[in-house]
Amino acid sequence: MTRTTAQWQAADAAHHLHPFTDFKSLSAKGTRVIVRGDGIYVWDSEGHRLLDAMSGLWCVNVGYGRRELIDAATKQLETLPFYNSFFQTTTPPAIELAELLAEITPPQFKHVFFGGSGSEGNDTVVRLVRRYWDLMGQPKRDVIISRHNAYHGSTMAGASLGGMSGMHQQGGLPIPGIEHIQQPFWFEQGRGHTRDEFGLTAARWLEAKIREVGPDRVAAFIGEPVQGAGGVIVPPDTYWPEVQRICDQYGILLVSDEVICGFGRTGQWFGCETFGFRPDLMTFAKGVTSGYIPLGGVMVGERLARVLIDEGGEFNHGYTYSGHPVACAVALANLRLLQREGVVERVREELAPHLAWHFEQLADHPLVGEVQTCGMMAALQLVKDKATSEVFDPTLEVGMVCRAHCFGNGLVMRAVGDRMIVAPPLVMSIAQLDEMGALIRQCLDLTLADLRSRGWF
Ligand code: PMP
Repeated sequence: MTRTTAQWQAADAAHHLHPFTDFKSLSAKGTRVIVRGDGIYVWDSEGHRLLDAMSGLWCVNVGYGRRELIDAATKQLETLPFYNSFFQTTTPPAIELAELLAEITPPQFKHVFFGGSGSEGNDTVVRLVRRYWDLMGQPKRDVIISRHNAYHGSTMAGASLGGMSGMHQQGGLPIPGIEHIQQPFWFEQGRGHTRDEFGLTAARWLEAKIREVGPDRVAAFIGEPVQGAGGVIVPPDTYWPEVQRICDQYGILLVSDEVICGFGRTGQWFGCETFGFRPDLMTFAKGVTSGYIPLGGVMVGERLARVLIDEGGEFNHGYTYSGHPVACAVALANLRLLQREGVVERVREELAPHLAWHFEQLADHPLVGEVQTCGMMAALQLVKDKATSEVFDPTLEVGMVCRAHCFGNGLVMRAVGDRMIVAPPLVMSIAQLDEMGALIRQCLDLTLADLRSRGWF
């Protein structure tokens, strides 16, 4: 690495189009070049250390630099860097990972379909769901219901299932047969109701949509147990059990997008276990390899698997990298590490309660209107008036002001509008959680002073 930061930035601006980015404005500002990671920290090309409270992009759950994962990749690269799972072939890592996933996922799951990412997983979900209903002799059941402000990926089907209006405005989305209902976001829509009442109300929006579309047209409902990219929106406890009841009543498939919530993030192995529902399909990615290498897929419940396998014929779908042996070897090492070190139990019993305690303290801050936590995920809603929960004018981009103070002070925190969110690694020490809590408070104080000096608070 012989280049200066300015040289890296110039080359980046000249050739690299970044995801979810206004290309012009980024090249004017310059990118931050991250060069190294260790544990829960990353370093930029200027030598600044950042506490990575977002685990990369909700994925580096075991922290950076874990020898077991690196060795697993190296060994597999040396033995067999690639072979496919088309045409009657497979590889030992793909088989062993499928076996281990069947063991650690809820009992209805015995089969997995591999892809390279969460988006590919959700594209696979759309095709599997529609294929299932075709085989069941109900081809008109092709409508999948999702939620506004959901995130299910950036492929055509993933972005269609997602409920991000900015994404739908570009490229002719959503694809046909996708419907959206409102999200269970108490802070925005549930005022005047208890959280539990609101959870039931929000779940029943699904029932209303099923009746509107026609129960014999609806194939599936998909949701993230906790909406991640939408701003760590933790649903009331009553929400998912009622969604389950409604799906059961109408015979509709239930899909849990566990791309963020899977593999311990919520304090159980899967988010559906934390929230008490029984999905027929589960999308996963990110935490399966702790982000060290791309891998995703779909767990296919026996309700579908029996039909697809016993009656199906060929399923015309698959990716070059479905079951990539190096990715599967890394996933195996990662999942065995989670098991060996009891990471999920430690999240549930020790880390998540401590994170929640920190966020309860932060609720006192003048800028904070609401805090929500679930496992190792948390959100702070910034507000203009704590007493009335009046929010800031969105054009002020107060969340971005706060985020800049975080970056400037060694903390990676994400802004979703004016909601500041964290999803730190699942292997932190208590001292590191305390360090993170103190940094967040310091950055909130700096943001408050900054907003006052601009006359915005
Ligand atoms: N589903 C959820 C819930 C996600 O959070 C994401 C990514 N943030 C995706 C799907 C898409 O995954 P990927 O970016 O790996 O395609």
